Amino acid sequence: MLDLAIIGGGPAGLTAGLYATRGGLKDVVMFEMGMPGGQITGSSEIENYPGQEKVMSGLDLMQSWPEQAMKFGLKHEMKKITSVVKNDDIFTLTSEDGNTFESKAVLLATGSVPRRAGFKGEDEFFGRGISTCATCDGFFYKGKEVAVIGGGDSALEEAVYLSKICSKVYLVHRRDTYRAAPSTIEHMKNTQNIEEVTNVDVEEVYGDMSGVTGLKVKSKIDGAIKDLEVPGVFVFVGRDVLNESIKNDDGSFICDTDKQGQVVVDLKMRTSLPGLYAAGDVRIDAAKQVVCAAGDGATAAVDIIEFLG
Ligand code: FAD
Repeated sequence: MLDLAIIGGGPAGLTAGLYATRGGLKDVVMFEMGMPGGQITGSSEIENYPGQEKVMSGLDLMQSWPEQAMKFGLKHEMKKITSVVKNDDIFTLTSEDGNTFESKAVLLATGSVPRRAGFKGEDEFFGRGISTCATCDGFFYKGKEVAVIGGGDSALEEAVYLSKICSKVYLVHRRDTYRAAPSTIEHMKNTQNIEEVTNVDVEEVYGDMSGVTGLKVKSKIDGAIKDLEVPGVFVFVGRDVLNESIKNDDGSFICDTDKQGQVVVDLKMRTSLPGLYAAGDVRIDAAKQVVCAAGDGATAAVDIIEFLG
């Protein structure tokens, strides 16, 4: 029987693991389906993690986190958890490979995944010219033109990153204002080889057997169609939370969530189901930042220690 099962090994899960084990819990397992580190490891640069003055990649930032947590006894199981059920004060977690694990408390720290934009050709060409990770796939377009779709911090940051590898970046956005930090907007606007294509809807991404060859965008002002002949399209239009593991068979959830499926928590990261906690991007009102996810993880662990007495 585990004291605590942590689902997800991003900043929230890793920090919770560190605080829980250092705080005295003996059997704490972090279930992470991939490599620990979370979604920030796919980001080319982070410059707002306190204490890290140097701009660094997400991978570099997260490198020491697992080791630090494991030093105090956190264990890592590389498994995807598919269900969580509570009976008689005991949680049973089931992993994709059919194993089950019992735990006295559970922390859901599963974060989020890139949202699909919903344009024609998106599913067909996903992974064949359409990507949601500039650090992973940008190199394939060295010296070529690419398009970035989106208008938030991630889209702008990744457009700037791609501008250093690619000959030109079209920044395609449905509005003419951005939802990003002023410094990020300024950085993007000062980058010579980024061309803003604003007030447009993406009509279609098209291609052939070899992959993407271009995309068509339609002006929201006069309906004019513009054809951008690019072999690579990067989509950054937000993220959806990963909550499948806490779904009942009938589609409802084992604890309260909001309409988007984000988990409702109180200030101690407690959900409506005693013993189940949620931290990081998966919870309501998350600022969706590494430092906030880490803070949530610590907050949850402190209360879990008290809950387990
Ligand atoms: P995540 O980091 O998403 O980690 C969740 C983990 O859970 C993942 O590793 C996933 O594999 C695992 N998981 C999910 N479901 C299961 C399951 N069923 N079983 C087992 N494992 C599972 N933040 C900043 O502060 N500054 C930035 O500059 C910044 N830039 C960003 C740029 C990009 C391109 C992206 C994508 C994000 C950026 N962020 C930035 C946001 C930041 O990465 C997130 O807010 C943060 O990682 C959230 O942490 P988390 O632990 O809640 O979730």
